[in-house]
Amino acid sequence: MTNTFPFEARSYAFSPYVDCPNWIGGAFTMAASGRSMDVINPRHGQVMGQVADSGRAEVEAAVAAAQAAFEIWRAVPYKERVQVLFRLKGLMERDAEELAWLVSHENGKTYPESVASVAKGIECVEMGVSLPNMVAGGQMDVSRGVNCEVTHEPLGVCAGITPFNFPIMVPLWMLPQALVSGNTFVLKPSEQVPYSALKLAVLMKEAGLPDGVFNIVNGGKEVVEAIADNETIAAVGFVGSTKVAEIVYDRAGGTGKRVLCLGGAKNHLVVVPDADLEMTSSNVVASAFGCAGQRCMAASVMLAVGPVDPIIEGMKGHASGMTLGEEMGAIINAESYDRITRYIDEAEAQGAKVIVDGRGAKVEGADGYWIGPTIIDGVTAEMPAGKEEIFGPVLSIIRVNSVDEAIAIENANPYGNAAAIFTSNGGTARYATERFRAGMCGVNIGVPVPREPFSFGGWNDSKFGHGDMTGMDGFRFWTRPRKVTTKWATQVDQTWMG
Ligand code: NAD
Repeated sequence: MTNTFPFEARSYAFSPYVDCPNWIGGAFTMAASGRSMDVINPRHGQVMGQVADSGRAEVEAAVAAAQAAFEIWRAVPYKERVQVLFRLKGLMERDAEELAWLVSHENGKTYPESVASVAKGIECVEMGVSLPNMVAGGQMDVSRGVNCEVTHEPLGVCAGITPFNFPIMVPLWMLPQALVSGNTFVLKPSEQVPYSALKLAVLMKEAGLPDGVFNIVNGGKEVVEAIADNETIAAVGFVGSTKVAEIVYDRAGGTGKRVLCLGGAKNHLVVVPDADLEMTSSNVVASAFGCAGQRCMAASVMLAVGPVDPIIEGMKGHASGMTLGEEMGAIINAESYDRITRYIDEAEAQGAKVIVDGRGAKVEGADGYWIGPTIIDGVTAEMPAGKEEIFGPVLSIIRVNSVDEAIAIENANPYGNAAAIFTSNGGTARYATERFRAGMCGVNIGVPVPREPFSFGGWNDSKFGHGDMTGMDGFRFWTRPRKVTTKWATQVDQTWMG
């Protein structure tokens, strides 16, 4: 099978695409109900295709296919399973341009951002490829003639539910670890960006993954509920908003599954006067407005400690200079557009000052959902823009008098995904990172994503469940350890040789 449904667009021009079916047992199927939903290209605000709107029946069919494939796949040795991912990496590199344009069209990211997200997805596959070397060797003679060995066993049929903002990367936060360790999988991608995951399934088949090992059921809430309720599914990984993360954690956990749900974020960047002007101003802007602020690691609040106005001036320059449509992409949909605009209007009405205003921005020839970089000064921690997740290109500046005051505001926020400090003083950096209540901390880095093999995950209301999603924690989540203690020689003088 080579390149079914090639996505031929190689520019931002609107391009209609095929309907997006489910992928069950290695074959395309539409929802039995015949229902489907529009997939909108956010840059143009136009329907690029229809995605299957599935329900319980399709989840059951996918789980049955995954269960049948489990006995075959788990019997394949690690070293052979990993070869499939090794080939997948090559195929993703071969089709990287196509994948990146697909991500850009369904999600609205700029092409360079889409290229970067595909590259990060490939890095996750590389992590999977290296797993056999990282997990081998867990055995030891624990007594005379007695050996203890640990193996990492698959759980069975696993499932993943993913958000709109990284259509190919976030599914790949889960799949390499889950598949290499012998599980089979049912993925429910975001209904807003279903195409990249389907392309991934086609590439996996080309890479030699047996049918049924990886399945996709497209749809919305009904599919998520059916996954949560399904008694065969052994583990669920979820990435999305805190509201839904909590629902999935409770409902899937109620059936005894292993569940890990990554939720929303409100990330704080603390900037002190000794921070490097150029590096800090460009970094804060890149963090807040990259991917149009639609990433869980985006800077949302800048805690400006004391006289940092030259840095804020620098940020204004960088933000105002961004070309919308080229250096910053679109907002995912009309509902998000309204929500983001409302936060800006409300902060302004409450007395904050919009010093860079992206409202009403337009991109010629692209009639979709656009908001330019927006910086609001004089926000307080009590205002909605200062405490709630906006998930758009809006940076709220809260003025404070000390690092302690900044840390107190960061600590009081219920989220805890990421926090960073910009300073040229090592002691200040250490003081802050030791006190942040966030799972991923940065020093002079606005988007402190732990790259493979380090694990990704926040704290507090940004995560429900134990452990992290990627890296070695991901491997631990999708496996369970079996300890085998062996004594072959019943007497010290009796061996197999004598
Ligand atoms: P979302 O929570 O709306 O959707 C995530 C998934 O849940 C989708 O597959 C969707 O179909 C499903 N879903 C939506 N509403 C549901 C409901 N009521 N019941 C059951 N399922 C439902 O999130 P989104 O808008 O796609 O993505 C943005 C959110 O994801 C932001 O909050 C962002 O911070 C978060 N996110 C977090 C991380 C992280 O690592 N913590 C990474 C990426 C995105």
